[in-house]
Amino acid sequence: MGTTDTRLDLLRGSLPTRNHNARTVAALAANPGCARRGVMDAAGIDKTVLAARLGQATAYGQSPFAIVRGHAFEALVKADGGAGLRELLHDVLGVPPEAVADGEYAELGGELPEDAEQDKKRPGREERVARTRSALRRALEDARPGLCAILDHPLLPLDVSGTRAYLEPDAMACLIAGRLHVVEIKSFSVIDGGADPAKLASAARQAAVYVLALQQTMAELGHPPDVVSTDVVLVCPKDFSNQPTAALLDIRKELAVTRRRLARLARVDDLLAPLPAGLSFDLGEEAAPQAVADAVAAVPAAYIPGCLSTCELAYFCRAEARACQSGHGPGGLAGTLGTAIRGELGGIDDIGRALDLADGKCAPERGEEEIARVLRRAEALRREVLDDVAARRSAGLAGAVAAS
Ligand code: SF4
Repeated sequence: MGTTDTRLDLLRGSLPTRNHNARTVAALAANPGCARRGVMDAAGIDKTVLAARLGQATAYGQSPFAIVRGHAFEALVKADGGAGLRELLHDVLGVPPEAVADGEYAELGGELPEDAEQDKKRPGREERVARTRSALRRALEDARPGLCAILDHPLLPLDVSGTRAYLEPDAMACLIAGRLHVVEIKSFSVIDGGADPAKLASAARQAAVYVLALQQTMAELGHPPDVVSTDVVLVCPKDFSNQPTAALLDIRKELAVTRRRLARLARVDDLLAPLPAGLSFDLGEEAAPQAVADAVAAVPAAYIPGCLSTCELAYFCRAEARACQSGHGPGGLAGTLGTAIRGELGGIDDIGRALDLADGKCAPERGEEEIARVLRRAEALRREVLDDVAARRSAGLAGAVAAS
């Protein structure tokens, strides 16, 4: 057995890579029980490619049109050294214009200027993390009323189940009234003061990951975590125009949930330990989908309906979960019915077995007596209702025949 990195390299093989971002960390935190996603994300595997090799290619994520539109809108918000963004900050945070009008604008995205020398390379991730930390130190040391540094595309590290993820908020504003604010720029519209609730919820979950990473960085720099505001500045196009508007997004709840779930994630070493030695998901472009499926199936999954909107492997895992049987008839895994029902079933993972317990066709194991009693009671009530409906129907039918 090799080191963690060696095993992750072997799992990934020559599959294209994709780094963690706030979206993937939020998705991982949303299903902390899924070892399959845990090892694939730790190995940096692009799951879109793997899904295609499984014969389950899906159009996942933003369309190319939405990505281009998002970049154009972000450039508009940050134009002129962030002048427009400073106005939005003054507006949304209710501070005087002079409180945010001045301060450093630090471009930390690593983009090279157009006139850069040919052999100049983009800075690596650790170099960008170091630059972000320096910019934060400068902002904190220079802090005084009327000075607000804007950090454009900072890079923040975050430990995710024992591996280092790198997260890139659109911007950070520091300091305003003594607090740092994460700025999220989204291209979905705010119409008449409201936005799509699903998109808002997704933005809040991603922003919570940024705030968590920034709090950790601030703690490492010797500052209390609450110097980072949990009111994230969300900038979106207003109505049907391209005009930016800003609102505050309170992410305290999402932050608490994300922190708790990330803490519950198993460490990558523990996820790798039970896997077969030599396991790799890279069986070549021409590999039969069934062979790839067998390799993927070697890592336990925990499918829930939420996977459909957060994970590229959702269709594969759903089919697998639905087909899963333990000799108690069809039904699949309880997770396919959602986390609430899975929780209600108290550890009985197989729907077929839950139905057999309800019918009294099988005996509960030790510790399952209570849930078996509840299931039998529910089944008895169901039969009572069905019998009552049938009796009423036949009584109504008999009455109609007698009257005719
Ligand atoms: S789709 Fe599959 S791999 Fe992805 S999180 Fe869900 S169960 Fe895990």
